Amino acid sequence: MTATLEPVSEGAGARPRDLLGRPVRDLRISVTDRCNFRCTYCMPKEIFGRDYAFLPHDQILTFEEIERVARAFVDLGVEKLRITGGEPLVRRNLPDLIAMLAALRGADGASLDLTLTTNGSALRALAQPLADAGLRRVTVSLDSLDDAVFGAMNGIDFPVERVLDGIAAALEAGLDPVKVNMVVRRGVNEESILPMASWARETGVTLRFIEYMDVGHSNGWRLEEVVPAAELASTVDAAWAIEPVGAAYRGEVAERWRYLDGRGEIGIISSVTRPFCGDCTRARISAEGMLYTCLFAVRGHDVRGQVRGDPSDDALLAFLTSIWEGRDDRYSELRSKATNDLPKIEMFAMGG
Ligand code: SAM
Repeated sequence: MTATLEPVSEGAGARPRDLLGRPVRDLRISVTDRCNFRCTYCMPKEIFGRDYAFLPHDQILTFEEIERVARAFVDLGVEKLRITGGEPLVRRNLPDLIAMLAALRGADGASLDLTLTTNGSALRALAQPLADAGLRRVTVSLDSLDDAVFGAMNGIDFPVERVLDGIAAALEAGLDPVKVNMVVRRGVNEESILPMASWARETGVTLRFIEYMDVGHSNGWRLEEVVPAAELASTVDAAWAIEPVGAAYRGEVAERWRYLDGRGEIGIISSVTRPFCGDCTRARISAEGMLYTCLFAVRGHDVRGQVRGDPSDDALLAFLTSIWEGRDDRYSELRSKATNDLPKIEMFAMGG
């Protein structure tokens, strides 16, 4: 199969499609590989302890380099930018980067859907400066309202109350919507599903359950620990009736369900039991400037080398286009014993 090009309005470049016909619409940018949490399923403290060597500063993309890469991706058709990490709020002066990205415009002059995923620990201080800089919405990760469960999962006994306060700060700053991601791990935080749903219904945030995924190698992932999407939906449905809602756009990650009583909706991200590779329009840039075309990629492409080695925007566009046109990843659909044993990149390094 050969790649096809979708022509766009005059003046803009061609928008590449990959070998499976998928355009690039969504860019996730990791601004740091560091995190102040040590979530057991992501950066377990036994492996990521005091001696762990995180990236030195000069190997991390500067804000100017990130803006340049994002601008190139916007030329190729990206409409949504998500800032992530590591923990993105530990990157110094993050609002400055947000302001630079908020100034970008798509081919039709439209501003971008600019969002951020955070553990929420620094949102009380940063929600307003981020909103002032042009951030529109935010996703906060929170796996339980029970301090014992959450503290064990985040690996540093970080209190629930401080994340809730960060969420309140995001709402006060006008970030809208505020979504909350909850990774569900069998035998660890299943008991937290209904309390979290009940709290979200009261608070007006959109709760999204995430199936525990086999990213990286550090978490010792086992299929038995995945609570399947169907079970998550039926658990919530037994408490408050829900019905499915159609996807808002091609490539939407979460399956959406609405409460029949009108109290909002939930999302379920089911990359293990119902893979959605056919609709995957996402690219990821790691903090050190590697481009990954799949969360489960075994290798990346050196965008930092390209950006630092050649100042021409045309060369960057050609480089990114050729990578996207060669893309055929669909790991989650192929997931098997054979793919299980492939080397994988840790999620915090690639940008979750
Ligand atoms: N530090 C930020 C945060 O906590 O949201 C951003 C990075 S974090 C890697 C992004 C998201 O990935 C979080 O919601 C986290 O819970 C989720 N995540 C990490 N490891 C995961 C895994 N093995 N399975 C499912 N979700 C995971």
